[in-house]
Amino acid sequence: MNVRKKIVIIGAGFGGLQCVKKLKRAPYDVTLLDKNNYFNFQPLMYQVAMGGLSPDAIAYPIRKITGPIDNATFRMCEVLRIDSTKNKVQTSIGDFDYDYLILATGATTNFFGNISLQKNCLTLKSITDAIAIRNNVLQEFEAALATSDTKQIERNLNFVIVGGGPTGVELAGAIAEMKNHVLPMDYRELNKQMMHVHLVESGDEILSMFDNDLSQKALNDLQSLGVKVWLNVKLTNYDGNAATLSDGNIIETSTVIWAAGVKGNAVDGFDTTQYNRGNRLLTDRYNKLKGSENIFAIGDIACMDGDAKYVNGHPMVAPVATQQANVLCENLKRMAINKELKPFEYFDKGSMATIGRHKAIFQAFGIKLSGWTAWMAWMFLHLMVLESFRNKMLVFVNWVYNYLNYDRAIRLIIKPDAKNNESEIVFPK
Ligand SMILES: Cc1cc2nc3c(=O)[nH]c(=O)nc-3n(C[C@H](O)[C@H](O)[C@H](O)COP(=O)(O)OP(=O)(O)OC[C@H]3O[C@@H](n4cnc5c(N)ncnc54)[C@H](O)[C@@H]3O)c2cc1C
Repeated sequence: MNVRKKIVIIGAGFGGLQCVKKLKRAPYDVTLLDKNNYFNFQPLMYQVAMGGLSPDAIAYPIRKITGPIDNATFRMCEVLRIDSTKNKVQTSIGDFDYDYLILATGATTNFFGNISLQKNCLTLKSITDAIAIRNNVLQEFEAALATSDTKQIERNLNFVIVGGGPTGVELAGAIAEMKNHVLPMDYRELNKQMMHVHLVESGDEILSMFDNDLSQKALNDLQSLGVKVWLNVKLTNYDGNAATLSDGNIIETSTVIWAAGVKGNAVDGFDTTQYNRGNRLLTDRYNKLKGSENIFAIGDIACMDGDAKYVNGHPMVAPVATQQANVLCENLKRMAINKELKPFEYFDKGSMATIGRHKAIFQAFGIKLSGWTAWMAWMFLHLMVLESFRNKMLVFVNWVYNYLNYDRAIRLIIKPDAKNNESEIVFPK
């Protein structure tokens, strides 16, 4: 009897979900595992954090994708360990056997070992993180109204974002726009001039993946929104009240958002020699894990060896994850009929980042755009790649509403139920 081989995929993000779609009708039984029952479109998470979009505009139920695919099943569980000697995945709901395993667990926040930052900073890696940031920012506005202590108001209204990559820049721009448009409307009693947004970057420019002229343009845009940008400065300590910078400056603040580092989201069971410095699993050009014959890693968790253009691995962005998924699945189909495999080649479609209303930068195939045109391109391309028609419509309608009204309509502080203190949402201080 010809027994169909089993493929287990860990992670239903950009890479894992693309694998499920590509393996539709392939001669394999596919099991997808994820700790959440939804796909999270991370590039728009900062807009959930800023009250511009609701979580369901960017999240999509995994079962709506796996449901119609006959050879795919989904199980919601936390993967705990891989036992590669027995070809088993150990999870919170039991073990899963595999013939081939695909790791697509993405990335997590990297605090580079600094405990004070890990303990006290907010992060933006999940939808619960985004809601926690939204709660926190709004709660700080409310808290500022509840005191007459100027020092405390200053602390409430100082917002520090660390990391001058796209996430940090987008957050800084969006909080600055809250100061300009939401604060004067909702919190008339607060003195707008007391609110300050700081962006701290350890390098000498923000958005360093862009050409220098575009990075400079983005810097000017941020500054025109009123963001104070600290270059060549690191955050060294944060105790929940004061952020200490490497140049000796101290910013009194109740809110620090850490967007300055990511590392691979590792699963137990692998040897340290199978990882690179960023906690990413080392693979060959076919996404096959170093030292293994039947385990593959794709996307943020993978660091591919042997591509001279990307000696430290490919950038941790969504197109890398989906393109690796495409090539890997094509190779798995080829393996089933003993055909020669194709090595992965990354096709870089360019980069873009938005800073705020009418403010964005875009660089692709030698074309550079900024301002209005880049902003329109940014919105159009994000709408195109969102998962479903419903998500696209929700995002589009919210964007039009927010644009016309200078508004962030979802200004809700949704706290965990007092009886259910199991919730992951971090309570604002
Ligand atoms: C705020 C933010 C903004 C971004 N903006 C952009 C952008 O504008 N453009 C861009 O190209 N990229 C952007 N990225 C990066 C992009 O989101 C990632 O590169 C992409 O998601 C990587 O895809 P992946 O499949 O490797 O992992 P992910 O999409 O992160 O998926 C990993 C999945 O694994 C699951 N998982 C992890 N560990 C376990 C476990 N132990 N058990 C069960 N399930 C597990 C997670 O729940 C998740 O669903 C952004 C990232 C962030 C955080």
